[in-house]
Amino acid sequence: IKKIGVFTSGGDSPGMNAAIRSVVRACVYHKIECVGIYRGYQGMIEGDFKPMDARSVNNIINKGGTILKSARCLEFKTAEGRKQAYDNLRKEGIDAFVVIGGDGSFTGAHIFAQEFNFPVMGIPGTIDNDIYGTTFTLGYDTALNTVVEVIDKIRDTASSHNRLFFIEVMGRDVGHIALNVGVGAGAEEILIPEEDLGLDRLLDSLKRSKASGKSSSIVVVAEGDTTGENVFELKKYVEKHLPIYDVRVSVLGHMQRGGAPSCYDRVLASRMGVSAVEALLKGESDKMVGVQDNKMIFTPISKAIKGHTVIDTELIRVSDILTI
Ligand code: ATP
Repeated sequence: IKKIGVFTSGGDSPGMNAAIRSVVRACVYHKIECVGIYRGYQGMIEGDFKPMDARSVNNIINKGGTILKSARCLEFKTAEGRKQAYDNLRKEGIDAFVVIGGDGSFTGAHIFAQEFNFPVMGIPGTIDNDIYGTTFTLGYDTALNTVVEVIDKIRDTASSHNRLFFIEVMGRDVGHIALNVGVGAGAEEILIPEEDLGLDRLLDSLKRSKASGKSSSIVVVAEGDTTGENVFELKKYVEKHLPIYDVRVSVLGHMQRGGAPSCYDRVLASRMGVSAVEALLKGESDKMVGVQDNKMIFTPISKAIKGHTVIDTELIRVSDILTI
């Protein structure tokens, strides 16, 4: 391998820049070339490439978002689109790539690797922490810290007015963010897709909370939770059945994906970038680098995209105990 392409794809997450920096510098260290591919698979199809050297990634380890931009690209789902991408890579002399992204981006990389016998390596970048084969994805730790800080602020206003807040956090299919920030910010209830609390239990819990003399209540709700239709319906339901509460809703949205990466995410990104490049140089392909027990591990992409992460049930119990 003489030239490695690197790109970010799908939803962005804090730490992607630190991973790009790491891939570029690991290539320079091992005396191979590195090319940045802009806007993920879209840029691959359009030939939007830029040679990267060690200095081209100065001062980005601390930046949120991705300097290479990200995109969703329907054309890459077609055989013609992938052939165009392959031709462009060959023309540029790129003989392997590192993709930083989520499940969808890995599916594309896996199909591409199989189709053209092309070496690829994945780095999991998503705040949701929903990728099998790694205990932590890039951006997750930063998102937890961002959300906990915001909930602390909402708590200030909630307790000044004796209010109940439903706070919706990201997590379409998984409740990792909700569960962890819920415990971290001392939420009274945490609603996650993996566990159906039920509306009756929610009401009981809120009644108990009020009776125990709490001056405010925070309920953290994962986007994908199904206890109510959505946070606004939950508000209506509680107002109807428990009029003792003054209820407000806060949907945190995209701010959760932004901001400077935490130290943990910067270190993780740095380790993953070096591991991904060195694995390619050793002849590995079609794998995703992950972290487990603080060691770098590799999982076949085919397994990573099929597997599911599991919620920490011990944390659910801890939350139940501490909200007494
Ligand atoms: P996020 O965590 O934001 O969902 P993701 O990587 O899963 O990140 P997707 O939008 O699902 O984001 O996928 C990113 C891109 O990967 C798609 O726009 C498409 O170009 C490519 N991709 C996804 N699925 C496939 C597929 N089945 N075949 C080929 N390419 C795919």
